[in-house]
Amino acid sequence: FDDRDGWIWFDGAFVPWRAANLHVLTHAMHYGSAVFEGERMYDGRIFALEAHTRRLFRSAEILDFEIPYTEAEMNRACIETCAKNRLTECYVRPIAWRGAEQLSVSALSTRTHVAIAVWEWPKYFDAERFQRGVRLCWAKYRRPPANAAPTEAKASGLYMICTVSKNAAERDGYDDALMLDSDGAIAETTGANIFFIRDGALHTPTPHCFLDGITRQTVVALARQRGLDVIETRIEPHDLPTFTECFIVGTAAEVTPVGEIGAHSFRPGAITFDLVERYRRHVRAHAIQALEPA
Ligand code: PMP
Repeated sequence: FDDRDGWIWFDGAFVPWRAANLHVLTHAMHYGSAVFEGERMYDGRIFALEAHTRRLFRSAEILDFEIPYTEAEMNRACIETCAKNRLTECYVRPIAWRGAEQLSVSALSTRTHVAIAVWEWPKYFDAERFQRGVRLCWAKYRRPPANAAPTEAKASGLYMICTVSKNAAERDGYDDALMLDSDGAIAETTGANIFFIRDGALHTPTPHCFLDGITRQTVVALARQRGLDVIETRIEPHDLPTFTECFIVGTAAEVTPVGEIGAHSFRPGAITFDLVERYRRHVRAHAIQALEPA
């Protein structure tokens, strides 16, 4: 992924993609001191840009480091990085991390570095799987509870168990893994939140130990607008047979129907595909984003 053309915004300046390198003693690599965002630009506009930037700053604050820019500067830099790469439909990845200025668990004299990369990423899951619903298996690891990890932060360190779980899923022919919380209730997949449908109402796990995703919040609002009840609750694996449809949501995954969770199967239906379509229209419903004067 490092060998391609393009420009990466790196500590305030554009550098060629292949030259956006770090020192091997970067604190973030040793101790997981990095926070990031995942955004999508549609038709020249980054959907929910301000909310993503706010979450980036909040994640950094939770991990006790300061981003040396304002939120407005970061918003502007995200838009400019898309423009510099001549992209109007792309994924946007801002990341902030502690540098190589000090290497020990304590990190008070490290600097916070920031980069933004953008690239084309049309679909998170295989298009054919999408129609029938993606296949999920059970993850080996559970989400840590909120008193064991900074679960409100989109922190790189929290993705270590996601990568292990997703690798295992793909190796076994699944698309992704579904993670439980520490009490054995359903939490989320390795990169998306989950919804179930029963009797025309949406049911979704209460986000007490994982991100209350921006897509999740958007889909809840779209569903309520459409007159559907949305119930946040505790959902256990043995509840699966009581639901008729299931889908997952996230910036990269958008709204993706689920066809299988382990031994249980779902047939993606009218409500799921209606929300797929409503979300698709919603994220594209705004005019091209204008840059405010500097
Ligand atoms: N959970 C995890 C683990 C994620 O990586 C993501 C993607 N950021 C989400 C949920 C969904 O968050 P969002 O809708 O804000 O992209």
